[in-house]
Amino acid sequence: MGKPQISEIKYIETYYFANMINNILRDPFSYIRPLNDFFGDENYRSFLSPFPKISALHSFIIFIIDSINYDDLSESENESFKRGRRKLWVEIAMGHYDFKFDSFDKWLKENKKIRAEIIDDDIADYFRYLSFYGPYEELLETMSDEIFFVLFLNRKTLQRFNELISHQIQEKTIEEIEMEDLSFFKKDGMLKRVSIPKWVMRAVIHRDRGMCVSCHKDLTGLISVGSINNFDHIIPLAIGGINDVTNIQLLCENCNKTKQAQNIPTSIKYERWY
Ligand SMILES: [Zn+2]
Repeated sequence: MGKPQISEIKYIETYYFANMINNILRDPFSYIRPLNDFFGDENYRSFLSPFPKISALHSFIIFIIDSINYDDLSESENESFKRGRRKLWVEIAMGHYDFKFDSFDKWLKENKKIRAEIIDDDIADYFRYLSFYGPYEELLETMSDEIFFVLFLNRKTLQRFNELISHQIQEKTIEEIEMEDLSFFKKDGMLKRVSIPKWVMRAVIHRDRGMCVSCHKDLTGLISVGSINNFDHIIPLAIGGINDVTNIQLLCENCNKTKQAQNIPTSIKYERWY
């Protein structure tokens, strides 16, 4: 076992974005345009590799922050800029994380533009510039990690997210799947079961505090003898669930049977700390 990883959490707009992503997952149809972009034609392919460390939810968070930056922020940022604000939101965020980057003012000067005449597209162009030459991707990744940290604790949100993805997997017929991806699938077009990596087990055990999420039976003893029976896919593989850290929970065998019979993906019961 490696040493525990400690990361600095700086919380810039973390709850704002966590709340926004939560709202999108509660009512995905009101966000159908950005979601179509995310899921696009071939994008289901990004959910096939089992258990990426940058989880499917990380990718989703990055996509949402990025599309908000381009589509919504450009306009409102431009307005507040014209009213005299000195810095763009992205500059404030990068400063917050001590990233080195060229300021918007510097970019304007180099592109021979003046502040009073900028249009929304200039701000989008600056974002593009930052993506190529600056730490914009790094900013998105850092922020996604912090937002993930908040959302990962909420199993209902994870359920909603994984439901959304499962529709993408369900919609694909086996004939539509690319040759090179076939090894991920079973004949019925659903993803194969794979062994769950140790880091996923650890993350899930800690989040669910070593207990069955439904009846709170202690499962830590069983885990130490290497049983994987208690790691359950929140959205089952059989109905399009994916192999992602966000789709795994601790569930005892008894509750697993009840879950199958009653079709209740997860539990929203949590043990109080005091
Ligand atoms: Zn149980």
